[in-house]
Amino acid sequence: MAKEASFENALAFAQDLIRIPSLSGHEGDVAKRVVQEMEVLGFRDIRMDDLGNAIGVIPGTGAAPSCMLNCHMDVVAEGDHDDWEFPPFDATVDGGFLHGRGSMDIKGPLALQTYAAAALAGRAPGDVIVAHTVFEERGGWGMEYLLESKGVEPGAVIIGEATKGDITTGHRGRAEVEINLKGLAGHASAPERARNALDLVPAVLAGLADLASNQPEDPVLGRASLVPTNVDVLPESRNVVPDDVTIVVDWRILPTSTNEELLAQVRAAIEPHLGALPEGMAVEVRMALEHQEAFTGIGETRDLFTPGFLMEGDHPMIVAAAKAVGNRDGSAPAAIRPWTFATDGGWSAGVFGIPTLGFAPGEERYAHTNTERLDLDEAEWAYSRHGDLIMAVQKALI
Ligand SMILES: [Zn+2]
Repeated sequence: MAKEASFENALAFAQDLIRIPSLSGHEGDVAKRVVQEMEVLGFRDIRMDDLGNAIGVIPGTGAAPSCMLNCHMDVVAEGDHDDWEFPPFDATVDGGFLHGRGSMDIKGPLALQTYAAAALAGRAPGDVIVAHTVFEERGGWGMEYLLESKGVEPGAVIIGEATKGDITTGHRGRAEVEINLKGLAGHASAPERARNALDLVPAVLAGLADLASNQPEDPVLGRASLVPTNVDVLPESRNVVPDDVTIVVDWRILPTSTNEELLAQVRAAIEPHLGALPEGMAVEVRMALEHQEAFTGIGETRDLFTPGFLMEGDHPMIVAAAKAVGNRDGSAPAAIRPWTFATDGGWSAGVFGIPTLGFAPGEERYAHTNTERLDLDEAEWAYSRHGDLIMAVQKALI
């Protein structure tokens, strides 16, 4: 039985999704629920890919480029339930807000996008693809897999991360780099027989400080920034000279950076400070790795790397989108700006070169907090703007 594509039904769907916890790698029940909703809303080509991304299509009336709407199905951990005013998985509606983990980041917008696509049946000039991905909160494996496997080949992508109704055009990326220092372990009572890996730390920190003070700047995205955030020391015993020290660097990068460039820059910055290494000591600069396991059973060890991207503010698609959405009182085009946080748009635009923008209700400052909420007036307005936005994007790309 078909369901009406209304804001009220979208809100009820968002509440169902919030009530299903879905940390990265555990999105299976949410993905099933999304597929089920696509079925009652009349989507075609409904499927889950091998990694667990949920995909459906509202066919277009013509041959205009396809537009893909994307949100992610994973959420970050909710922390201590006692710290929440409204329980994180109750999806309470109170005071004009939908409360709970995922209400804004991103199950609320996910529901709105899905319903907005359904409401365009028989009207959009090209296909409207809805693809909600896994693992966004851990670097974006879902989006990378979706586009690399050519499961979908969209002409444009609209990301539903919070923009408070503005049109967003990009963000810095993030890379986690490790500098591993190797020495020779020994008893702390006889340090002359050991090579202390900690001895190399000051030189590495000095090199990183040089690099941090010499970061490139983009007029829209601001400066890249880099900071050492952690030191792991092995063995952990306090009466042993350590032979294995790892310095961790959090690096907010501009869109042009690749892993190889980043690692080469770190090596070049620390080498003058390290000089010739004492015999038996070694330094390795590498990307931090994390083993990830999808709910479908596929596992992969991945770089902790999220690419950045930036669309030109005068790109025809961006200009058309801002005009189609308008500001809240309809008196002017929507504001155009970058996001502060990173999104799956880094993959779609930064790596795969697909024109990408952001549009959704919600304020970035509530993301990942225990006060996460979605303003329902703003959500209803944003829902009402999606149809014009999608069709404007498709027409701008013909
Ligand atoms: Zn998000």
